[in-house]
Amino acid sequence: MNKKFETVIGLEVHVELGSKTKIFCSCSTEFGGEPNTHCCPTCMGLPGALPVLNEEVVNYGIRAGLATNCQITNIGKQDRKHYFYPDSSTAYQISQDDSPLAYNGYLDIESKGGSKRIGITRIHIEEDAGKLVHEKGLGTLIDYNRAGVPLIEIVSEPDLRSKEETIAYLQKLRANMIYTDVSQCRMNQGQFRCDVNISIREKGAKEFGTRTEIKNLNSFQSIMKAIEYEEKRQIDAIKKDEIIMQETRGFSQETGKTYSLRDKENSDDYRFLPDPDLMPIVIEKEMIENIRKKLPELPDDRKSRYIKDYDLSNYDSEQLISSIEVADYFEKAAKDAKNTKILANLIISEIFRLTSPEEFNLPFSPEYLSQLVNYLEEEKINYNSAKKVIEIMWKEEKTPEKIIEEENLEQINDEKVLGDIIDESIKTSKRAVEEYQSGKEKALQSIIEKVMGRTKGRANPNLVVKILQNKLK
Ligand SMILES: [Zn+2]
Repeated sequence: MNKKFETVIGLEVHVELGSKTKIFCSCSTEFGGEPNTHCCPTCMGLPGALPVLNEEVVNYGIRAGLATNCQITNIGKQDRKHYFYPDSSTAYQISQDDSPLAYNGYLDIESKGGSKRIGITRIHIEEDAGKLVHEKGLGTLIDYNRAGVPLIEIVSEPDLRSKEETIAYLQKLRANMIYTDVSQCRMNQGQFRCDVNISIREKGAKEFGTRTEIKNLNSFQSIMKAIEYEEKRQIDAIKKDEIIMQETRGFSQETGKTYSLRDKENSDDYRFLPDPDLMPIVIEKEMIENIRKKLPELPDDRKSRYIKDYDLSNYDSEQLISSIEVADYFEKAAKDAKNTKILANLIISEIFRLTSPEEFNLPFSPEYLSQLVNYLEEEKINYNSAKKVIEIMWKEEKTPEKIIEEENLEQINDEKVLGDIIDESIKTSKRAVEEYQSGKEKALQSIIEKVMGRTKGRANPNLVVKILQNKLK
């Protein structure tokens, strides 16, 4: 990122609610199924069919609002948002215009840059559209199974300044939705998808630059890549004094580039109109309090608990709570682990390299991981070997103990044995020895590497450093 410029990002996230039935009829919301088997005249928008709001959808929406520190409205209405697209047979989407269910919330995030509070402007309920299927030889077909599936749209303030913050916010938001059972947020099924509003301005400027909106991103990787590309494209344009168009853009996974879909000049007028078929949504205070009382432990509550009970840092705790599967796994393993910091570190540094927090499903039990932590704590193995054990457990069903034995990974802690190997290594490292003795601390590294090589990575690294330093005094 260029030092002269600053990126400004705001997000619109669509979350598919966990409701078993659709928003205005009793059709199933189940993913997949033969085309057009989960629909009726209402969700197909046939003339004369009347929508009736599914009360569950309001409950889900309130839960989402409370989980994100929002205020909940006491009276809301639903509006028709007009636009033509073949997947919406009524030529409007029922959404909420100026009376969203929840507003004025926030989420606290933790990224490498530190802690930050991200504002949430509003959360409103709306219906999903059908799906167009382009079949070779048959033309374009339409599947209404998804039409009328209930969604919430969560709009953030333009408070995000980088792709890292964006991902941290999305992980936190997703965690809150999953913990409170608002949605399972399966990204590969489109249950959690995101539009990114992005602009560039000179650092310190008060005015926002012209923004573009990148539509429908449904993986963290696409979001990262799309932001990266768009940042560069807009900065290059500014440097060349070119005008940035306010427009809607798509993102291609194949090319890694964003591309223009349509300009925004005329498309912003949706002619919102209160839906005359739907009653106002009245929310009593009591109803909100009842839902609040039943909320489970939220991600931030768990985070505070981890900092206090397991002595973890802010950042590490946030990494662990960002997925409920990771958090549950960590807590199970922590029961028998003699050092929870090592445990957290193995999960964040090593296991997240093999799988993402969003797809966390380990092939070995938490007990195996705590055993491994204990071997490390007891200095039976070193960190390098622990990494090897994890990689093998990933592929084969073996206990850590068996792997350590079979692969001969036990740490060498015998000072006499290490001393001999170190003597050998010193003999063949004349230059490094001279450099070290003339004050270059770093020169020690190459000798340590030799010792590690000779012991096939099994030497106790702390002991090696200690013995080496003594010998070279
Ligand atoms: Zn239906």
